[in-house]
Amino acid sequence: MSPSNPLPLALSYPLGDQRPAVGDTMTLRPGLHWVRMGLPFALDHINLWVLDDQFDGADSWTVIDSGVHIESIHQAWQTLWAGPLSGRPLSRMLVTHMHPDHVGNAQWLIERFSLPGAPARLWMSAGDYLAAQLSSRQTTGYGGERAARYFAAHGLRDEDNLARIRERGDYYASMVPEVPASYRRLMDGMVLRIGQRDWRCLAGFGHAPEHMALYCEADGVLISGDMLLPRISTNVSVTDTEPEADALGLFLDSLTRMEALPPDTLVLPSHGLPFVGLHDRIQALHQHHAARLDELLALCAQAPASAADALPVLFKRVLDLHQTTFAMGEAVAHLNYLWHRGQLKRALDAQGVWRFSVG
Ligand SMILES: [Zn+2]
Repeated sequence: MSPSNPLPLALSYPLGDQRPAVGDTMTLRPGLHWVRMGLPFALDHINLWVLDDQFDGADSWTVIDSGVHIESIHQAWQTLWAGPLSGRPLSRMLVTHMHPDHVGNAQWLIERFSLPGAPARLWMSAGDYLAAQLSSRQTTGYGGERAARYFAAHGLRDEDNLARIRERGDYYASMVPEVPASYRRLMDGMVLRIGQRDWRCLAGFGHAPEHMALYCEADGVLISGDMLLPRISTNVSVTDTEPEADALGLFLDSLTRMEALPPDTLVLPSHGLPFVGLHDRIQALHQHHAARLDELLALCAQAPASAADALPVLFKRVLDLHQTTFAMGEAVAHLNYLWHRGQLKRALDAQGVWRFSVG
């Protein structure tokens, strides 16, 4: 994830500092439950949502996002199904996007907690379903030879880091060993009846191929996934699969579309605490990226710069390898944004590194 946002924020947290314990639920509205689990990364937790459902006429649960495929999260789900979720099967496994902390256990949950003989269906956008299928079978973006070559072409020259990126070709698959073989497609604008509520799908771009947030107008609640987070700015990365992507432009446009939601919307993010104040948050994110773009323009005006040269400008702290790969993707996203808009030119230097320059 990218740097925490230093701007003053007028967000409010209606639940204060409350959060559910691992293995327990916190009910936010009748039939809408919050679950929180630990992640083995610098970003150390994820929020997941469990909704009362009457799919096909019987009481059941719809689960939104699933956690990475690790033992501690499996134990947390087992504790939940032995406790607050007991007595009802999983009927729908809904996934906001293809990242491992969201889709990692979809198959695992479907296998264990569906009604015998009636496996829950995975619900997901086509873009993210197909990307998850592909990533769990071959290396894309996260590691392997192609990712190492891509990072090297953007100026990452540390041989140790490159060797470790080459070695982790199965990085995604280690956290998402299996993606369900079939699914039901979520599309922008689609309305899903889950229990007593209607939820409208809001597609968002730039963080994942086709991220789906869910908005319930009657309750004024937005399940924002990773598209809108209260404290950290969403990672917006360009990877080796689509190296010329304008991920930042897509992301900023998606945020602008979310501004159509009412100001008192309760936002349920995948990381951090539920909050109110989405317009302030969206404005702060626009300003945050605009400031980073200005800094990069200034850097490139001094001398042609690579994405690796941009890391100390964008990230004023020491990065581990996991953070470095995210940060490189983020640096390319910002440079591509300026390049797509004609504010920067780019050329390969004699070492085969993309360098971006002004004018
Ligand atoms: Zn994500």
